[in-house]
Amino acid sequence: MPKMVLEAQIVSNIEIGVNVKELVLYTPEIAVQAVPGQFLHVRVNNSYHPLLRRPLSISNTDGEAGTVSTIYRVVGQGTAYLAALHARDSVNVMGPLGNGFALKGQRPLLVGGGMGLAPLVFLAGALCPRPIEILMGGRTKEEMFWEDMFRTMCTGIHITTDDGTLGRCGVTLDVLPDLLKNNVFDMIYTCGPRIMMEGVAKLAREHNIPCQVSLEDYMACGIGGCLSCTCATSNGSRKKVCADGPVFWAQEVIS
Ligand SMILES: Cc1cc2nc3c(=O)[nH]c(=O)nc-3n(C[C@H](O)[C@H](O)[C@H](O)COP(=O)(O)OP(=O)(O)OC[C@H]3O[C@@H](n4cnc5c(N)ncnc54)[C@H](O)[C@@H]3O)c2cc1C
Repeated sequence: MPKMVLEAQIVSNIEIGVNVKELVLYTPEIAVQAVPGQFLHVRVNNSYHPLLRRPLSISNTDGEAGTVSTIYRVVGQGTAYLAALHARDSVNVMGPLGNGFALKGQRPLLVGGGMGLAPLVFLAGALCPRPIEILMGGRTKEEMFWEDMFRTMCTGIHITTDDGTLGRCGVTLDVLPDLLKNNVFDMIYTCGPRIMMEGVAKLAREHNIPCQVSLEDYMACGIGGCLSCTCATSNGSRKKVCADGPVFWAQEVIS
């Protein structure tokens, strides 16, 4: 699949949560090609500071409108530059990059933590009309604006918050064993903090359920050239998160 470097006009860049924005870009070429799991590598301004692009998962596409969406948290300089942009500004994007999720199983379970939920929005749309359940975790109720996005696509929504302000008090891994008890699910997809994905992968293995993880390691070039994002695999080789991933079968990258 060709990777493109394009100037994309910003359709909107609005706050949807505390320090979280949804960026919608007009980029028809990418909109018709992107698949769930892929990401954009975004040049956040026209200077060389910061030098590196910032990777953001594609959280949705609209082929007819020619748009691609991402949802990002403002955490540092790069995302702060991005947050300051307005509709009709443009950004230089490279994409769609990386591989995609394998759309498998008839009863998929999605497990997402924090901003790891962004690629799962796109994935849930692609898995419809299968009966999808999602287990999502965040620090507090204010972070769980995700619920509205998944409501129309999922038959079951399970929520945890660290402080108990929404759903069950705790983390996703406190709830997952219960969800897996009845052997309903035949595929698990997960994205979020590494420790969460390791726990999900372990439980999936114990229940013999295939599991895909989407890694969000630091990366530089985004196209497999610089090797800054390589990760160890179970057979001793190393894989590039940007080009071989970011989606992997759990047993490949989590032991
Ligand atoms: C494939 C991929 C997809 C991603 N998708 C999304 C997404 O959809 N939404 C989103 O909000 N973020 C996503 N990220 C993380 C995002 O790229 C970083 O948050 C962003 O690059 C930070 O840039 P910055 O200049 O604002 O922050 P920096 O100044 O570079 O860093 C500020 C803080 O953020 C942390 N940070 C920076 N990069 C990462 C990272 N890759 N993973 C975890 N923590 C990081 C740093 O530890 C530091 O504490 C993704 C990362 C990858 C690799």
